[in-house]
Amino acid sequence: MSPRVRRLVPRIGLQKQSRSLRLPDGRDIELLQVIDPRAVRVKLSVSERGARLSLPLGTSDTFVQQFLEQHRAWLQTQWRKHQSAPAPDAALCWGQDLCLPLRGESITLRWQSASRLAVQCDEADWRLLVPPAATLARVQKVIAEFLHSEARTDLGRWLPHYLPGFAHAPGQVRIRPLSSLWGSLSGRNGLSLDLSLILAPSRVFEYVLVHELCHLVQRNHSPAFWHEVGQRLPDWRQQRQWLRSHGGMLKRQLGVLLEAR
Ligand SMILES: [Zn+2]
Repeated sequence: MSPRVRRLVPRIGLQKQSRSLRLPDGRDIELLQVIDPRAVRVKLSVSERGARLSLPLGTSDTFVQQFLEQHRAWLQTQWRKHQSAPAPDAALCWGQDLCLPLRGESITLRWQSASRLAVQCDEADWRLLVPPAATLARVQKVIAEFLHSEARTDLGRWLPHYLPGFAHAPGQVRIRPLSSLWGSLSGRNGLSLDLSLILAPSRVFEYVLVHELCHLVQRNHSPAFWHEVGQRLPDWRQQRQWLRSHGGMLKRQLGVLLEAR
């Protein structure tokens, strides 16, 4: 049996922090900033998992600001390339049934001529009721309202469960398409959640809600913050990983579904 080698020098871990960054086109993206004791130079990259900035230990904040300023245009090009990956087949076409994910399961909205415009469900039979005079833009609006209402229903179930665990509740809760973030908590405790989360498995959506609520207690991503998340949602890592692997696809799917034609 070989002798065990004991690590004599304690290993300093990676320090990670998420920050919001505005691109030249005005869109805000989330950038993961990682201080890596083993890194020898600053490295900016964009992948399936999003934008990441690796920094050697001791890099000054002024340097980071300058570096990001110089690379903003490059980052935008990379980000767009990444976003223009093949779009899922969720486009709305006149008169055709529409397949889309809802709470992680694929559903089909059967297109049906009717006197009023609505999305209706009878015992798992989803129908898109469309009057002949409706426009595609109006149909898209009704689908967006339907997704919005489904997301509200889920929040209505989860919030009474989680809110008693916090000293105070968030202010206004808004659900809307967010370009790169999944959720955010403003300085005034206004909570914003991405509409595409209703397409994801429910537990993933629940994780994002819990994550943002925990920012009421910790306005950072410190170990104390993750402890708060873990106490309420022990399997949060699994849900975060799901978002990292599939989240981009969800946002593209919603974009294709609701894009103006
Ligand atoms: Zn956060």
